[in-house]
Amino acid sequence: TDEVTIISSVLDLKEKKVGAIMTPIDDVFTLSSDSVLDEAMVAKIFNNGFSRIPIHIPGQPRNFIGMLLVRILINYDPEDALPVSEFPLATLPETPPDTTCLNILNYFQEGRSHMVVVSAEPGSVEGAIGILTLEDVIEELIGEEIVDE
Ligand code: ADP
Repeated sequence: TDEVTIISSVLDLKEKKVGAIMTPIDDVFTLSSDSVLDEAMVAKIFNNGFSRIPIHIPGQPRNFIGMLLVRILINYDPEDALPVSEFPLATLPETPPDTTCLNILNYFQEGRSHMVVVSAEPGSVEGAIGILTLEDVIEELIGEEIVDE
C-alpha cells in the first residue's frame, strides 16, 4: 500500500546520503556575479524555469557566494541591464555529500534555506559537486518525480 511505501521511504532517509540524490553540478543552471541581467539574460532565466539560481565568483564556476531568487526580478526592468552583483543574494549553505537526507530535511524544515550546495570540501573554492533542494528529498520520500504545475 502507499502507507507502507511511504513509511519505509521515511526510514530510508536515515540511511540515504545527499550525495546520492543531489542534482550534479554540471546540470545546474548557475550564473556569474558579473553576468548582466539584460533582456536576453532575463528571458533565459525565465525560460529555464528555476526559482533559485546559484551565483558564483567570476572565473570560479564552483565557488558560490549565494543564490538569486528569481522572484525578485518581478519588478525589475531589464533595460537597466544591472549585473547580478547589484541584487541582494540569499544565503546558499554548503553540506558534505555524506549528510543524511533526514538531517538535511530537518535543516530545510528550520526554514533558513531550501537549497544547499553539496561540497566534497566545504569551505574550499572548488569543492561543489551538486545542489539539493527540499523537492529532491520529498521526491525520495514519495518515490516518484514531482511534475511541476
Ligand atoms: P524550482 O522551484 O526551481 O522548480 P525545486 O526546488 O522544485 O526547484 O527543484 C526541482 C528540481 O530541480 C530538483 O531536482 C532540484 O535539484 C533542481 N534544481 C533546482 N534549481 C536548479 C537550478 N538552478 N539548476 C538545475 N537544477 C535545479
